[in-house]
Amino acid sequence: MSSINELLASHRVLSMLESACEYNEQILDNIPSVFVVLNQHNRVIRANNAFCELVGRSMEDALHQDFVSLFTSENREILLHHFKHLRGDKHHNANIRFKLEIGGTDEIQTAKPFFWRLFQIEHTSKSEGQVISLVGDDLSSLYQSELKLTSIFGSIPLGLMVVDSQGTVQEVLSEYCHVLLNEHGLIGASLSDILLKHNPDMHTELNDAFGVLRDLEGHFTSEFATGEGTMSRLQQLQIEDGSHTGKWIKPRFQPIAKNNVIDRYMVILEDVTTSYLAQRQIERANILGKQAQALYECAIRDPLSGLYTRLFMNDSISRLIASAKRGNLLELSIVMFDLDNFKSINDTYGHDAGDQVIREFGRIIRTCTRDTDISVRYGGEEFVLALPCNDSDEQGGAIVAERIRAKLADTLIKLPNGKTVRVTTSCGVAYCHANDTLEGLLQRADQYLYTAKHNGKNRLQVESNEGE
Ligand code: GH3
Ligand code: MG
Ligand code: MG
Repeated sequence: MSSINELLASHRVLSMLESACEYNEQILDNIPSVFVVLNQHNRVIRANNAFCELVGRSMEDALHQDFVSLFTSENREILLHHFKHLRGDKHHNANIRFKLEIGGTDEIQTAKPFFWRLFQIEHTSKSEGQVISLVGDDLSSLYQSELKLTSIFGSIPLGLMVVDSQGTVQEVLSEYCHVLLNEHGLIGASLSDILLKHNPDMHTELNDAFGVLRDLEGHFTSEFATGEGTMSRLQQLQIEDGSHTGKWIKPRFQPIAKNNVIDRYMVILEDVTTSYLAQRQIERANILGKQAQALYECAIRDPLSGLYTRLFMNDSISRLIASAKRGNLLELSIVMFDLDNFKSINDTYGHDAGDQVIREFGRIIRTCTRDTDISVRYGGEEFVLALPCNDSDEQGGAIVAERIRAKLADTLIKLPNGKTVRVTTSCGVAYCHANDTLEGLLQRADQYLYTAKHNGKNRLQVESNEGE
């Protein structure tokens, strides 16, 4: 429809129409748009059927109709303004487009929105004066769709607006824009200024993004992809609205093209407050989790020996005991070591020397045990090991404990003062039985340890009723 109108509107066709041949009259009558030619008094000197239908008159009656009287008094002023502009155009190349309701008057009662195109015909006759033509497309259905769209836009929780390449708001398509941006008047305002006011720390990102919008004006829409990376940096922008958390929005930009060339932009503002706050909670929880983990690691590791502390022992060995009771383990032994005559090391060589011995004994324990074993510095120079065995190939508590004892006895420990010392340890080994508790097992291991000390130190005392 519009291409026919454009064609008709061209000067060439209009001047052909002037010659009023029969064929042209037919074309005129059959076009779906309203078409009129007006003389200098704005009276109709030519019209098509669509116009006659609109005004409800025969062609004869329609001719010489005062065209301006078909509009309401307010609209008449606008219309006359356009006519004046067109007639004042000496070069005859003005092509004015405007939207104006026809009707709402005595002559035509129902108001209908029309989209008008106004041309000046290169013709001035003695009787009619300067002649202009008008083509009008009925916008009623479009208008209804627009109203529907507006009501949809108005109710969806997205801010929709149109900005020009400078970021100036031209149209506000959804009321939600005002809520999201916490601004009343938006038309004519600078979107970048509003966003910058709330997000001064995003100065660079905002300037870059709006710079891209500016630079891409007049470029093909396909080139828009080049700037999307810069714009995607605007993930979360804060809008202060007096509330505790404020609002967080994410803007997205879509080019609006004219002949496939970027002319303006549709801005879609999304409220991302909920997801932003949730994300912050997760981040905070992660940090707290890491801090708690670090604290826990500190609490469960003894820095001197590198072994676990008692804090870790209670839970972890209790779990092993429960597992053994369920029959998941072939054997679970609890081994308790106490260094022999340790007090004299401290007394003879100093506390640092004692520390060095504990450090060295911790290293020996670590090298002699498996990852699945739990090695704990139980007290000053006392150590507890929980040694689970899953199959008969694995060496049980007594063998591992003996290896540790022997290794320590064989090791010449170098002290901080350069001297060397040999230290021994005594050891009690208890095996987990059906009704054992951690306390009970520790108590028995301690008793065997006492026996080993009593029997001359540097030895093991192993529970005899193994496997019962
Ligand atoms: P026994 O063979 O009967 O075990 O004799 P002992 O000398 O080892 O006797 P006891 O277990 O009573 O002495 C332990 C000493 O260990 C007492 C304390 O000063 C020392 N001690 C405890 N913790 C540390 C420590 O972290 N560093 C150092 N250097 N010494 C410690
Ligand atoms: Mg002791
Ligand atoms: Mg001791």
